[in-house]
Amino acid sequence: MRVEERLIKYAQIETTSNPESTTVPSSACQLNLAHVLAQEMAEMGLSNVRVTETGYVYGTLVGNTRKEVPSIGLIAHMDTAPDYSGKDVKPRIVKAYDGSPLYLNDTVVTTVEEFPEMKRFIGKDLIVTDGTTLLGADDKAGIAEILTLCETLLAHPEIEHGTLQIGFTPDEEIGRGADHFDVAGFGADFAYTIDGGCINGVTDETFNAAEAKVVVKGVAVHPGSAKNVMINSLNVAQEFHHLLPATERPEHTEGREGFYHLDSMSGSCEETKMSYILRNHDLALLQDMKKQMELNAQLINERYEREVVEVKLRDQYLNMKEKLNEVPYVCELAEKAVYKAGFDVVREPARGGTDGSTLTFMGLPCPNLGTGSANCHGRHEVACIQEMEMMVKILLNLVQEAVSV
Ligand SMILES: [Zn+2]
Repeated sequence: MRVEERLIKYAQIETTSNPESTTVPSSACQLNLAHVLAQEMAEMGLSNVRVTETGYVYGTLVGNTRKEVPSIGLIAHMDTAPDYSGKDVKPRIVKAYDGSPLYLNDTVVTTVEEFPEMKRFIGKDLIVTDGTTLLGADDKAGIAEILTLCETLLAHPEIEHGTLQIGFTPDEEIGRGADHFDVAGFGADFAYTIDGGCINGVTDETFNAAEAKVVVKGVAVHPGSAKNVMINSLNVAQEFHHLLPATERPEHTEGREGFYHLDSMSGSCEETKMSYILRNHDLALLQDMKKQMELNAQLINERYEREVVEVKLRDQYLNMKEKLNEVPYVCELAEKAVYKAGFDVVREPARGGTDGSTLTFMGLPCPNLGTGSANCHGRHEVACIQEMEMMVKILLNLVQEAVSV
């Protein structure tokens, strides 16, 4: 099956994950894709194919070389983001995209002005949505590329390669993709998630992440007799928020700049709750940001001479960079593969986390590679057929480079 045929097939299977759910996987529909993939993997000749109770799909492509080479893991996620509907996805191929406004339906238009990433697709063939759902190329393009690679290797036994361990995970979009990953059972020496955008990208860096839950306790009394008594928690919450640097918000930061993001806020005079996420590529700076939240609470509490603000901090995930620096050949191998395909490598820090950052800290070094898609998590999501084909080539280069060292 061609790589785009795979994506079109997988995209039509609904796999939206659900952050409100406590089940594993978070939505039963993800298992439908898991079983389709497992069947395809077994039919094409992968061994030890299994779907676990928690919805993970694993399989092995046994190596055909006598050389001592590492066992490489390739990982992609099956779920799509809950931000936008992934039900009844109707993928459509647009041949030779010319950069003019792309009508997904009568009213929904993708333009290069609004989505500058579209410029890199001019002259290429795209897979797009009908404007009512997301596409799910994030990350079904990754799945399609990994399985096309396996099929290619099985059809060409003359290509020498080591053993590949394949893993498809549920619930990545809700931050739980690595929670039940069986690193020991997977059996890879290192791995790559295929879950990025540009195919020449090698991502070895993520944020360090923490969350802060802030509770402001006020004193609610009748407004008519409130003088010197009322403490309106809504006002105190604003005071607290404005002590944080306004320039360090997501909408004002890029590259390696960290941020405080007020994610939700609700309350009344009596009590206000705020939920923040704190992000920084530099762990020491993240610790400073956490400290700043506590100092601000202290300042306000001193101002009111009582415990009005309470801050609860929790660490979420760590930047994988430090760990990956201990095994530099993992990223170097990917860079060689990209370079051999004729591209300059872009090493960009991810402004987010990946399953790979968690897996790296679980003992499986795991940078992230691209898929050839763009505008994910919404109806303007696209995948580029030529880039997907090139990504299969890059993975093939990677497997061959691993044998030649
Ligand atoms: Zn993804």
